[in-house]
Amino acid sequence: MSTTKTNTAQKEGKQLCHICGKESESYICEACSDKVRAEAMNKKKWEDKGKA
Ligand SMILES: [Zn+2]
Repeated sequence: MSTTKTNTAQKEGKQLCHICGKESESYICEACSDKVRAEAMNKKKWEDKGKA
């Protein structure tokens, strides 16, 4: 999923990742969105286990 690696994004809304502060195309970069998703899944697991 790296088809958007051009420098056309320089003029358009270049944003910073709200989590790690790196430049990103959206407000959460890919790496962090991965992390967030993993954490969400973890949480779900926990809830499944904890509140049976
Ligand atoms: Zn990030």
